[in-house]
Amino acid sequence: MARVPPPDLHLARLRRYSAMAVQFSRGCPFDCEFCDIIELFGRTPRTKTAEQVLDEFDRLYEAGWRGSVFVVDDNFVGNKKAVKALLPRLAEWLERRRNPFTLFTQASINLADDDELLSLMRAARFNRVFVGIETPVKACHEAAGKHQNVKADLLESVRRIQESGMEVMGGFILGFDQDPPDVFDRQVAFIREAAVPVSMVGLLTAIPNTRLWRRLSEEGRILRESIGDNTAALLNFAPRMDSKTLLSGYREVMATLYRPEEYFGRARELLDRLGSSPRARLVFSDYLALFRSLVRQGIFAKYRASYWRFLGGALLRTRRHLGVAVTLAIMGHHFFVLARRLDAEGREVIPVR
Ligand code: SF4
Repeated sequence: MARVPPPDLHLARLRRYSAMAVQFSRGCPFDCEFCDIIELFGRTPRTKTAEQVLDEFDRLYEAGWRGSVFVVDDNFVGNKKAVKALLPRLAEWLERRRNPFTLFTQASINLADDDELLSLMRAARFNRVFVGIETPVKACHEAAGKHQNVKADLLESVRRIQESGMEVMGGFILGFDQDPPDVFDRQVAFIREAAVPVSMVGLLTAIPNTRLWRRLSEEGRILRESIGDNTAALLNFAPRMDSKTLLSGYREVMATLYRPEEYFGRARELLDRLGSSPRARLVFSDYLALFRSLVRQGIFAKYRASYWRFLGGALLRTRRHLGVAVTLAIMGHHFFVLARRLDAEGREVIPVR
């Protein structure tokens, strides 16, 4: 990693992006059966030096970038010692330039067990973190070798991260061999209770060269190559549960989670429990997005009443998180369209443009 060159930002049209990407580490110490990261990058996290990361921050800053930066590591906290050494340097760099960036990343659930790490991330202006929660069914985690999730009290862990000032975005999976018949209701109930508005629920997919792929190949259950999109209602292996039940259950979960009232309810609960969160510096494209949201969602959308109730409530009850509320409202639109299309087409999700 110490030899990875910085990206040539002159080749990117920065205005077309909502976030820029920086990578610190590759690899993850865990061993989830379905994961291809560990097959590609290994189980010993390797990191860039702090100087490399700060150099990339400098380049982004000099190129005029202001706003969100996605630290694209598959598990940012895979090497806690290295990340704890990096974070104060990032915080200091950001403060010296009057906080031009807010950061978000991906991390394993054991982040929640480490108060020091949570507060270092918060000080380095992380405001969101994607966590692979996968399922509330412990037997699925056990069978998939996702031991960190077996050990954790998942609801309590999510809450701790939220209370430290970071929104949790969750990855969830349906289609494990151990899924009980009531898994669909349990997923919805868990996501609701965890107050995770942005819940990326997908079907289990066997990616080539993973442990899952090898096992299912031996069992003669692989049907086709994965298309690389785990939100498409398409199975690439024969599940234990009846396929039709699984697919219709999946669509039902998405349709339920992304009913506007349901989504805004989770978002409201999140705002209530979210600790002090770094304020994003607003740039022209943010004002443009707000304007579009007010017109498209606030005037023309069928769910406009829910939208105004949500924003009005945020203004009255949790004004300090108004920026987060607007962002969540905008992201909600994407998911409402996605879930509606999934429901209507009954087969495949078409990316929303
Ligand atoms: S924690 Fe995430 S990145 Fe690590 S092995 Fe599991 S799924 Fe892969």
